Amino acid sequence: MANLTREMILQRLRTVVDDDTGIDIVAADMVRGLVIKGGHVGFSLEVSAARGQRAEPVRSAAEKALYDIPGVLSVTAVLTAHKPPGNSVRASQATTPKSVSRTPPRQVDSPLSGIGSIIAVASGKGGVGKSTVAVNLALALRKLGHSVGLLDADIYGPSIPRMLDIKDKPASGNGKKLLPIEKFGLKTMSIGYLIDDETPMIWRGPMVGSALTQMLNDVLWGDLDFLIVDMPPGTGDAQLTLAQKAALTGAVIVSTPQEVALIDARKAIAMFEKTNVPILGLVENMSYFVSPNTKEKSYIFGEGGAKRTAEQAGHTFLGDVPIYVEIRENSDSGTPIVASQPDSAPAACFVSIAETVSQKQGTHATEAPNIVFE
Ligand code: ADP
Repeated sequence: MANLTREMILQRLRTVVDDDTGIDIVAADMVRGLVIKGGHVGFSLEVSAARGQRAEPVRSAAEKALYDIPGVLSVTAVLTAHKPPGNSVRASQATTPKSVSRTPPRQVDSPLSGIGSIIAVASGKGGVGKSTVAVNLALALRKLGHSVGLLDADIYGPSIPRMLDIKDKPASGNGKKLLPIEKFGLKTMSIGYLIDDETPMIWRGPMVGSALTQMLNDVLWGDLDFLIVDMPPGTGDAQLTLAQKAALTGAVIVSTPQEVALIDARKAIAMFEKTNVPILGLVENMSYFVSPNTKEKSYIFGEGGAKRTAEQAGHTFLGDVPIYVEIRENSDSGTPIVASQPDSAPAACFVSIAETVSQKQGTHATEAPNIVFE
């Protein structure tokens, strides 16, 4: 069977006519972010915000048309809305003079306006324990007496449902907005509550921006001292969107001690510096292993890498978290260590990091970051 090509898909989509304009959806430039992978096809259909869900028939017609092509296994088309001219980041980029700061993004009427500090937990690469740190940092801040929310924005690999053992779907508060799901005293929201585990990952790319915006704008967080945002790993478009739209008041960078991880951690630092998000500091995860018998520390991945990186970049070293079997076991069983064993040695590492973060946000909380376009 011939491989699916972009042209084959577009050719078929040209047969789908948009009733509103009377022209086909390709000619009308509605098809965006087309992704084809192993028989799975994903794209978004751009419509005006005013039209919204009324465009549903054209969306389903587009999906249906592609299923007729041999070799197509799944099709996911999502509706995305145009922003009115002048409202988009690109538009403000075009009109903002060089090096002039844009208005602070967190407006008084923003759904996030009841939140004191919005802190990204980020890493340059996956698998370094970013989500583990995000969950336990949120719980440690809660332990210190703060009201805390946790937003799992890791659209490619949401871990919060598993780490907190949440299988429910969020309820709708007022018919439009979603209510966070509460667990261990945290208000939580995850893209994983909304997306079926079985849904292929590939279509998520084109949706990242709109899904993230929705998670920021359409969740009834209420008043919180801290919202911890578990970022997608890396430094691409999704991360930039979040850094800009979430009006982050600070970022915590997580790395393991190896040089390969630290190279990417430096990229994450650079991204936050560029978007004027204050870097609260670096956490070194999986710093060392303590032998249960001899109590001797083994620096499996080398010693002190993140601390040196923090010093070189002029940022705070927030602390290290050794490799503890209990951290992994409790993550896997949905009972994170700070909730299940709050007085244990591993929990103490997170509480110490939370104390520094909370102190630092005391000094940063009033300063919403500006975005400077060079
Ligand atoms: P990321 O979010 O960076 O992809 P995770 O937080 O999902 O990483 O962690 C990856 C794996 O490593 C998980 O199984 C987690 O339980 C485990 N893990 C993370 N930190 C530690 C630690 N300090 N000690 C032991 N296991 C850890």
